[in-house]
Amino acid sequence: MKNLYITGRKFLFNMNNNNYDALELSLNDWELLFANWNEAKFRAGQVCQWIYAKKEFSYNGMSNLSLNLRGKLSEQVFITLPIMIRQQVSKDGTKKFLWQFNDNSRVESVLLNHGGHKTACISSQVGCPLNCAFCYTGSMGFTRNLTRGEILGQFLLMEKINGSDINNIVFMGMGEPLLNEANIFSVIRSLNDKKMRNLGARHITISTSGIVPGIEDLADFEIPIRLSLSLHAPNDFLRNKLMPVNKQYPLQKLINALRRYKDRTGERITIEYALINNINDDVSLAYEMAALLDGLEPYINLIPFNPIPSRPDLKRSDNTRIKEFCAALSSLKIEYELRKERGTDIMAACGQLAINNRA
Ligand code: SAH
Ligand code: SF4
Repeated sequence: MKNLYITGRKFLFNMNNNNYDALELSLNDWELLFANWNEAKFRAGQVCQWIYAKKEFSYNGMSNLSLNLRGKLSEQVFITLPIMIRQQVSKDGTKKFLWQFNDNSRVESVLLNHGGHKTACISSQVGCPLNCAFCYTGSMGFTRNLTRGEILGQFLLMEKINGSDINNIVFMGMGEPLLNEANIFSVIRSLNDKKMRNLGARHITISTSGIVPGIEDLADFEIPIRLSLSLHAPNDFLRNKLMPVNKQYPLQKLINALRRYKDRTGERITIEYALINNINDDVSLAYEMAALLDGLEPYINLIPFNPIPSRPDLKRSDNTRIKEFCAALSSLKIEYELRKERGTDIMAACGQLAINNRA
């Protein structure tokens, strides 16, 4: 048993007790574990159906497994889920969840509801190391990456609480998903797997601040998921100031990686651009953005900046400035959408997630 081979990821395995953490196991891991137990391979798929599709988190309820197997699983493979500390509901129906993990660290995630269509916005790290000027998560610093099971736990519990499947998942909560790439890719493989959650590639989106090696890996990833890039400034001078990560991965390198992603996947990229008054909302920057993105044919999401307590000096753009910015994009025949704010009354909108982990 000690030599049980589990795929390269770090997963929670206690050598002394032979205990496993169920959500840390991929389908392949389950199959290897069951082979080790002399159980039929298809049993792995059955357990995964219960956990991922039916949200059955107790082995007692897994009625097509033998009592013997259920007992062994209960003793050795723990289905560990985050603890829900709080649930808040916005007046627009957006829900925000606060979760706590084994080491007491906490993250938030958000469930958006667009006319019955639901999207889970999931966190990938406790805090974020990238410190973007406009983002509340960035202001809390970085504690650690979430494990595969902690990321999946947020989504599966949200589905359980929701009472039915959630249509989309976006890695747009706290943290930079492409700095936690191995775990995020492992999560996506399991969500997409027909024997597990069977969520289509088109329903999965990674949002990144522009981690070039991660975007290149995404271009080669076997599941053609969607990509959103947080741009927020169309030149290196301004972007260096707003997003320090730009110093490591400047715009030209970033655009090349985006082109590669587009060429390899054929997928249209979404560009996120938060309009901050008198900072990045000058009409000239709309023209500069159009030139920068020439040939990429992205879809542009303009987000009215969501105010954050750590930067009271940053304000949402005036309506007239927003209109002028939009008019410039329209005149250039660039496709964009001015996003409606969601969940700002409960600090659940983009960039507003942060926890005081010492609370
Ligand atoms: N780290 C990733 C994903 C999490 S941030 C990234 O940066 O893309 C989720 C989204 O919220 C990103 O598009 C980010 O740029 C945006 N965002 C951050 N702070 C914001 C704010 N105050 N107002 C509007 N959008 C913000
Ligand atoms: Fe991190 Fe994204 Fe916030 Fe920047 S915008 S600090 S990358 S979470």
